[in-house]
Amino acid sequence: MKIAIYPGSFDPVTSGHLNIIRRAAEIFDKLVICVMVNAGKNPMFTLQERVEMIRKVTADIPNVEVDCSDQLLAEYAKDIGSCVIVKGLRAGSDFENEFQMALVNRKLNPDLDTMFLSADQQYMSLSSSMVKELATYNVDLSDFLPAQIIADFKNRIATTHQGGNRK
Ligand code: ADP
Repeated sequence: MKIAIYPGSFDPVTSGHLNIIRRAAEIFDKLVICVMVNAGKNPMFTLQERVEMIRKVTADIPNVEVDCSDQLLAEYAKDIGSCVIVKGLRAGSDFENEFQMALVNRKLNPDLDTMFLSADQQYMSLSSSMVKELATYNVDLSDFLPAQIIADFKNRIATTHQGGNRK
């Protein structure tokens, strides 16, 4: 059975992530989406909240599992018997960083490959941080976030910005 891992921060999961998830789930027998603890990022949502949001938006995809880990990705892959990492590549900015990470992961675990799926045209410049920024301006988020999480996400943004002068 070919098991692939789709790792990321998913803070929150966007329609761009979901597009990669659906495409990767068609290619592999099982896709494990792993919310990674990233010491360099200061997330808005807890690990468990991010896992729950991803579970909600992938409930209709039978071969997807959602997990979280603070392990090194190369070690995590070994533990779950996976030899492929899936990454989404957006225009320009992702390549250098992702290429470097792919080389490091392969050095740490020579059985581990990284496969890149190009972002769909409509999600090419979509990022979790952009959605968080837009949300503070009360913009319609239906082109950016899966419908199932929009209400919860907006509530959280409203609570976080209580006391500010934006609605
Ligand atoms: P970000 O880089 O926005 O903080 P994540 O760390 O959650 O997002 O990203 C996890 C993976 O999803 C990475 O491989 C990233 O390149 C990819 N990704 C993020 N946004 C998109 C998008 N809009 N389209 C395709 N892939 C994406």
